[in-house]
Amino acid sequence: MIGYVIQNNVPIQSDSDRAIKDILKQVDDQPFLPQAVIDLALWAADYYLCGPGQVLEVGLPQDRRVAPRTYRHFTLTAKGRSYACVDPGNRSPTTAKRLGPKQRLALDSLGKVGEGLSQSDLNGCGVSVSTLKRLVDMELVRVTNRQIAGGELNVDPVTSKTEFQLTPDQEAALARLLSILSTERFQTALLHGITGSGKTEIYLRLAKAVLRSGRRALILVPEIGLTSASAKAFRGLFGSRVAIQHSGLSARERHAQWSRIRAGDVDLVVGTRSAVFTPLDNIGLVVVDEEHDGSYKQEETPRYHGRDVAIMRAKQAGALVVLGSATPSLESYHRAIRGRYELIALTTRISDQGLPAIQIIDMKEEFAEQGGEVVLSRALASGMRDRLDRHEQVIILLNRRGFAASVFCRECGGTAECPNCSVSLTIHRTSGRVRCHYCGHSRLVPTRCPICQGEYLEFSGFGTERVELEVHQHFPKAKVARMDRDTMAHRGAADELLTRFGRGEIDILVGTQMVAKGHDFPKVTLVGVVSADVGLGVADFRAGERTFQLLTQVAGRAGRGARPGETIVQTINPTHYSIQHACLQSYEAFYREELQFRQAMRYPPTLGLINLIVRGSSESAAMRDGFQLVKALQHRGHAGWILGPAPAPLSRLKGQHRVQILAKGDHRTRLRKVVESALDQLPRIRRRISVDVDPVFVR
Ligand code: ADP
Ligand code: ZN
Repeated sequence: MIGYVIQNNVPIQSDSDRAIKDILKQVDDQPFLPQAVIDLALWAADYYLCGPGQVLEVGLPQDRRVAPRTYRHFTLTAKGRSYACVDPGNRSPTTAKRLGPKQRLALDSLGKVGEGLSQSDLNGCGVSVSTLKRLVDMELVRVTNRQIAGGELNVDPVTSKTEFQLTPDQEAALARLLSILSTERFQTALLHGITGSGKTEIYLRLAKAVLRSGRRALILVPEIGLTSASAKAFRGLFGSRVAIQHSGLSARERHAQWSRIRAGDVDLVVGTRSAVFTPLDNIGLVVVDEEHDGSYKQEETPRYHGRDVAIMRAKQAGALVVLGSATPSLESYHRAIRGRYELIALTTRISDQGLPAIQIIDMKEEFAEQGGEVVLSRALASGMRDRLDRHEQVIILLNRRGFAASVFCRECGGTAECPNCSVSLTIHRTSGRVRCHYCGHSRLVPTRCPICQGEYLEFSGFGTERVELEVHQHFPKAKVARMDRDTMAHRGAADELLTRFGRGEIDILVGTQMVAKGHDFPKVTLVGVVSADVGLGVADFRAGERTFQLLTQVAGRAGRGARPGETIVQTINPTHYSIQHACLQSYEAFYREELQFRQAMRYPPTLGLINLIVRGSSESAAMRDGFQLVKALQHRGHAGWILGPAPAPLSRLKGQHRVQILAKGDHRTRLRKVVESALDQLPRIRRRISVDVDPVFVR
């Protein structure tokens, strides 16, 4: 095991039941991480109730050595040079005789290149390691360790758009942010700018300013965001001073980038969630782009929130942190309203178009008239035809992948469920399989009911594969592409697809929430939402917020160029407040209504919440542990509310039963301390409990 020394002279607790082991070997001879990152990790471990080692691992490249990887490089010594002659006829016979043929081969090969050769080059010429060793012993050849090149980023050529004249809105926002930046003190600003209001340009100018003042910048983007226009803009503008950190990089690329940052060769880091732990020094600016995005939250231990850790990082560095979004999380907006964050608004779009008009289609009426099988309503289909005729582009969103959501038996009503998880299996037509989206279990699409052997199986609910097929059938001549986790599985696929879409090689882009995020395609004039209801049925207090965000964001993809945009939303809940407010593009109205709901139901942001999931081999075992945990919480003087133990919304996952306890409290720190000491009291069941402080997905 590799351990990290973070402190010396720590008193050893004699009652510790864990053995203290000796250190076998020291891996690095210089400090591996800057102190700032260690401090941040310690804070996060404390806040998220996990181990410091678990947090430290997050930001590290897989290959944990600090020394950049090296290779052995051989050159001739002066003595060696006189032995090695390009023209073998010139060689003095006496010396040549003392060398074997392999040794002569090595010297000849090295003699032909001034620069020397690497060990693997020489091996490739048929020279073995032992031959080289002998030549080194004879002082004919010298060996050095050289660094493996790499880490230089392939930067897109600088897309040197002429500097924009900022809009008055942008001008005012930038001026405010620059004045905060110049204080060189910690401050959080929420940049609430509607879609297409030009937030990226503000980040870029802030970054330039902070670099000019001799400090550095950390830019966090959502998972899919690296292919976004904003990440490209950073790479274009700052060239080789930028490093990129995200999970899609190969281990080697990631390590090379990490080493450059650690060595101080980089002024600006753009990365996803884990980049918040990047070893960048002297940070003056932190940007969290699309701060509401769910991918900032890690859904496994350590369950940290990239945005919240970013705020702490900025605090420790005395930096300005800018959270940007068209649809801020309720948490951030709540704090901004109450004055803890500086609230800065951009209320106008760059294009003269204003926000796209949104039309709601009540699918209950559509089904009544057209039959229950309709995927594309008449309004949406005719809107698409118009766009195709005018050579404009269309985005179609359905936030569910696969062909059908489930398969059920007409005789017994049973559905095909995952054997390991309490969810129904999704039908994937392209692969002819049914699949569990939680554990990956898959098998061939059943032809008979697994329960009663009935032969009449039906599909219900549909996903992006089905929509793609429908669109093909409606518009056989159109070029259609699909963007979801199934089609974007290999690295670079999303980037490639979006580039093709940007070039106009695709007319209609069908996809899950991936199509909603941050893209800037001026030729998109219609966005269709096939079913706005997908996320509403789930048992998660954020369902309404997520639906509002998704609809607002995807609507914002239309009308970003010279032509006005339109959005058509199909739903069977036309009066749901999330859908209504999204269609009116009214963030404040949504915020007020949602906050009332959160207050009434006692959910964040008005109080603190910790989700405790107890896993067990049976439900009763998990419940038993759950009751113990609740008792411990009460015993420790928990002052808030405790819900549960009760089966979690996802009551079985990967073969384990899951029981949920929600602990709530007005005082967040006290709540955390109570949970911590209750867990300490239960060492035997501790590892069956996952602890989620400030959960984002409650399932
Ligand atoms: P947001 O992130 O707020 O949705 P973007 O930052 O993507 O908006 O900006 C939308 C588009 O407007 C981008 O193509 C961007 O390059 C362009 N843009 C930004 N600011 C200006 C400006 N002042 N003048 C002209 N174009 C601008
Ligand atoms: Zn499963």
